[in-house]
Amino acid sequence: MSEEQNAHCTAPAGASAPRVAVVGAGWAGLSAALALAEAGVGVSVFESAPMVGGRARTVSLATPLGRFDVDNGQHLIVGAYRDALALVDRLAGKSSPGARLERMPLALHSASGLRLQAAPLPAPLHLAWALAGARGLGPGGRGAMLRLMLALRAAGWRVPAGDTVATLLVRHRQPPQLVERIWAPLCIGALNTLPEQACAATFATVLRDTLGARRAASDFVLPDTPLGAVLPEPALQRLQALGAQVHLHAPVRALARTAAGRWEVAARGHHRAFDAVLLALPPWSAARLLAGSGLSIGRLGEFESEPIATGWAFWPTDAAPALPRWQLLDENASRGHRGQWLFDRGIVTNAGARARLGGIVVSVASRLSGRSADEIARGLVEQLASTIGGPRPTCIRIVTERRATFRCTPHRPRLQPDHLLSRAPGLWLAGDWLWPDYPATLEAAVRSGTTAADHLRRDLLRAGRPSGAPHATASRGMPNSARHPQAASSA
Ligand SMILES: Cc1cc2nc3c(=O)[nH]c(=O)nc-3n(C[C@H](O)[C@H](O)[C@H](O)COP(=O)(O)OP(=O)(O)OC[C@H]3O[C@@H](n4cnc5c(N)ncnc54)[C@H](O)[C@@H]3O)c2cc1C
Repeated sequence: MSEEQNAHCTAPAGASAPRVAVVGAGWAGLSAALALAEAGVGVSVFESAPMVGGRARTVSLATPLGRFDVDNGQHLIVGAYRDALALVDRLAGKSSPGARLERMPLALHSASGLRLQAAPLPAPLHLAWALAGARGLGPGGRGAMLRLMLALRAAGWRVPAGDTVATLLVRHRQPPQLVERIWAPLCIGALNTLPEQACAATFATVLRDTLGARRAASDFVLPDTPLGAVLPEPALQRLQALGAQVHLHAPVRALARTAAGRWEVAARGHHRAFDAVLLALPPWSAARLLAGSGLSIGRLGEFESEPIATGWAFWPTDAAPALPRWQLLDENASRGHRGQWLFDRGIVTNAGARARLGGIVVSVASRLSGRSADEIARGLVEQLASTIGGPRPTCIRIVTERRATFRCTPHRPRLQPDHLLSRAPGLWLAGDWLWPDYPATLEAAVRSGTTAADHLRRDLLRAGRPSGAPHATASRGMPNSARHPQAASSA
């Protein structure tokens, strides 16, 4: 039976089913809760915010043109997001798979003359074509880019441990213009970390799974709705249909292991014991909860965070410039030009109000420290004027996520969902920081969530707490499942 067919052979949890608390309703927590609920496990989700989605959620912004729903931050989804896209399609229903997502071949353009456009050909011809027709990579740029990709492929996409992206680029003699126009923006965009600090091994994995993979893996996948409608809200509806309890506005404040080996979860307005707990939180939130509960935080305190700011530009619909679907922006900090990407988000509407919306991404936003939102917005207005021209936006609203991602350095801990299990049996972890090969992404969040749920469920089975329905998702195995041979064996 295919994975998708299997996922629909489900039943709501019976009264005797084991009960699991999932703490956090971001993309990791939601995908974990779905995998558990579809396998017949009784699930209670506790989310501190009033809505689901976590760091990829919908927010409402007031502007002179009206109040509009937008993403908390402009997100880029690529075709390589195997599990996240499969889950989105499955939740959208078979009648309209991927209805809200538009796939377009990779194209990197900038006002300063960069042109790199993948062809609709099978890999690697799509990339060969792109390189043959590329413009603006500077002297020797095309050959150097090809050399680096071939060298990484020949090395199995492995690079020396501890290398930064900057070291990798120097070792492969990448010319300055190529670094400035391609490699640095891709590194900053994908890892939210400067090349001088960014992990070369993770960057190589990103290249392997996008530019180095099948053609569709490097597609840009653009939703025509805010992110909340892409996965979080359909996931919430499916969870409720499966009988899962989802408590919003319910921060978990303490965890305690009972003498009977269960877990008491104290959340706002709720106090209940569970057979297991899955913490689907960022490392800093999980560490705070664990420390406050007198529990070990393991290596969770070693993660650093990095902000991302998004400038949401609003124009009247009849006085908006011709926006590119997306475009790389040239950074120039001395002129306040801090944006790296511009996305056209089309027309947004609400209660009769309409506006044209553009999203400007400012990654590694720790560099903005000490600057006011007004100052950042003024710089972005100037950057737009010098890049695309046309009428200036009515306003730019800056949304800064202070802890958008972990800083993707070579020395960050590489942890697994069972990191705390030996000290706290029944306590599992999920989140974008628990798919160690990847930077903090929606895909890492979904993979870690479904994998942690799968191992948790198997753990319950071994402890004699069978769930009420057949196995819902195939085990993809924790990357170190060898450390837990029983967990990797079939249930
Ligand atoms: C501005 C921005 C831009 C980004 N751009 C991209 C991009 O282009 N592409 C990409 O793939 N990724 C991008 N990301 C990263 C992506 O959003 C994250 O990797 C992903 O959303 C993380 O999901 P998660 O479920 O692991 O964690 P989270 O989304 O952080 O979920 C954790 C949840 O736990 C809740 N919580 C915290 N403490 C408690 C508590 N004590 N009790 C109950 N609930 C609690 C939080 O409210 C939150 O909802 C971006 C992130 C940001 C912020």
